[in-house]
Amino acid sequence: MERFDVAVVGGGPAGSSAAHGAASAGASAVVLEKGVPRADRPDRLGPDSTDAAGILDYWVDIMDIHPDEMPDDVVLGELDRAEFIGPNESLTMRSTGISSSYDHFGFCMQRARFDDFLRDRAVEVGATYRTGASVRNVETDLDRSEGPRHRLELASGEQVGAEVLILADGPQRQVTSGVLDEYLPFDVTDRLSTRETNHIAYQEHRRLPDPVFEEVAGAIKFWWGHMPGHTAYPWIFPNDDNVARIGLTMPIGLSLDDVSDRDAYPLLNPDDDRVPQGSEYIRRLLEQEYGDEYDVESDFPVVEDRGKSDGTETYAISSTRPIDSPTAAGIAVVGGAMGSTSAFHEGGDHTAVRTGAIAGELAATGDLTAYNDRWKAAVGDEVLRNVAMADVVRDYHPDDWDWAFATARKLLDSGGGYSILKAKNIRAGFGAARLVASYKRAKFAARNGRYVQIPETDYVV
Ligand SMILES: Cc1cc2nc3c(=O)[nH]c(=O)nc-3n(C[C@H](O)[C@H](O)[C@H](O)COP(=O)(O)OP(=O)(O)OC[C@H]3O[C@@H](n4cnc5c(N)ncnc54)[C@H](O)[C@@H]3O)c2cc1C
Repeated sequence: MERFDVAVVGGGPAGSSAAHGAASAGASAVVLEKGVPRADRPDRLGPDSTDAAGILDYWVDIMDIHPDEMPDDVVLGELDRAEFIGPNESLTMRSTGISSSYDHFGFCMQRARFDDFLRDRAVEVGATYRTGASVRNVETDLDRSEGPRHRLELASGEQVGAEVLILADGPQRQVTSGVLDEYLPFDVTDRLSTRETNHIAYQEHRRLPDPVFEEVAGAIKFWWGHMPGHTAYPWIFPNDDNVARIGLTMPIGLSLDDVSDRDAYPLLNPDDDRVPQGSEYIRRLLEQEYGDEYDVESDFPVVEDRGKSDGTETYAISSTRPIDSPTAAGIAVVGGAMGSTSAFHEGGDHTAVRTGAIAGELAATGDLTAYNDRWKAAVGDEVLRNVAMADVVRDYHPDDWDWAFATARKLLDSGGGYSILKAKNIRAGFGAARLVASYKRAKFAARNGRYVQIPETDYVV
C-alpha cells in the first residue's frame, strides 16, 4: 500500500488547494480524483469543473489568489455589473459594496483551465495528483499501533494509506457522507440527504448574436421570480468569442402542486403539469428575452465543443449551510462537500480554495484541531451573508422580487451590493426598513457560527 501524510479525495478547487497547502508545508500529499471527461479539456482527464465561473471582486481576497497569478487564458473577461431582473422590475449593481484588492466588479473565467492551474500549482510544490482514481471507501483506525490512520480503497482495488484525510468530493458527498456517518449519533442523511441539501444546476454554452453579446458583455444577469422554488433562477454569464453560459439552478424534486401562484411565474406555462426540465426553462427564457427579434434555436446555437457533454452540463450544487469537521479523527471536509457554496448566488470557488488551503496547511502539521475555527475566521463573514440572504428570500414570490428590486434601486446612492443593507438605510423609508431589517434579523439568527449545520460537538470520536 502506498502511503502519504495527507490524502485528498476530489481534485476540484478545494482538493487541489488542500494538496498545495499540505505539500507547500512539506507534507507528502496525494489527490485522488475520479476524472471526468470534458470537451473543453480534451488532452487530459481532470476534475468535474462545474461552474458558471463568475468571480466577484472581494472573492479574490477570500480565495487569496489574485487573477494576475493565473495563466492568461484562465480569465475570459472582466465584469462591470450584475443585473437582476424581476417579472416587472430590475436592478443593476455596479459594486458589491465590499472593499477588495481587485479593481473591477469581477471576472468570468474558464473553469476547466482554472482547475488545471490549481492542479499544476499543487504538483509544482510536490503533490501527487492522480486521475482515474475513484475512491470507493475509507476505513479509519484511530487506535492503530502500526499502519496508517486512514486506508482509502479505490475502485481499482488499490489501497492508499494516510495520516490525515481531506474530503473534497463536492456537493454529492459520495465519500464524505459515509465517512461522517461513522462519527455521528444520528443518520448522516437526517441532515445531509442529497435531495434536501442540494439543488440541481443545468447550463448550456450558446453562441449569441453580435448585438446580444454586446448587450450582455461585462454583465452577469439573473432572473429572479421567474421560476418557482427557493433560490431558483436562470442566469446568463458571458464568456468569450460571443459564447455565454446560460443556466439555472432549482431545488430537487419540486412539485408544481406546491406552487400556489403559478400564473405569476413568467417561465411557467398554464398547461405545465410538472416543473419544466432545465433545457426547457432555458429555451423559454431565451424566447422571452429575444424571441421577438431572433429565432432562438438557429440564432443562439449550442456550442458543442465546450462544457461536459455536447455543450450542456448538469450538476448538483450544495444549497445548505456548511458543516464542521471531525478533526479529532484526522479528517477535514472542505469546499462544496462542507456546504460552503452559497445557495443564494451559487458562488463557491473562493470558499473552496480557501477552506482547502487552510485544511492542507494544518494537515501538514498532522494536527487539524484548529480547522473549524480557522475556516470560520477566513470565510465566516461570507457564509453568514450568504446564509442570511438565502433565508431572507426563502418565501419570496414574484411580486416580492419586484418589490425588493424597486426598493433596492432607491438605495443605490448609498453604494451597491451589500452597502444597500447597511443599518443606516433603515431610516430611508418603510420599504427600505423592511428590506434591511429582514437581512439584519436573518444575520442575527445565524451569528457566531450558528449557520453551521453539523457543529463539531455533534461528532463522537
Ligand atoms: C452550474 C453551477 C454554476 C456555478 N457557478 C459558480 C460561479 O459562477 N462562481 C463560483 O465561484 N462558483 C460557482 N459554482 C460553485 C462552484 O462550482 C463550487 O463551489 C466549487 O466547484 C466547489 O469546489 P470543490 O472543489 O469543493 O468541489 P467540486 O468542484 O465539485 O470538485 C469535487 C471533485 O471531486 C471529485 N470526486 C467526487 N467523488 C469522488 C470520488 N469518490 N473519488 C474521487 N474523486 C471524486 C469530482 O469528480 C470533482 O472533480 C457553480 C456551481 C454550479 C453547479
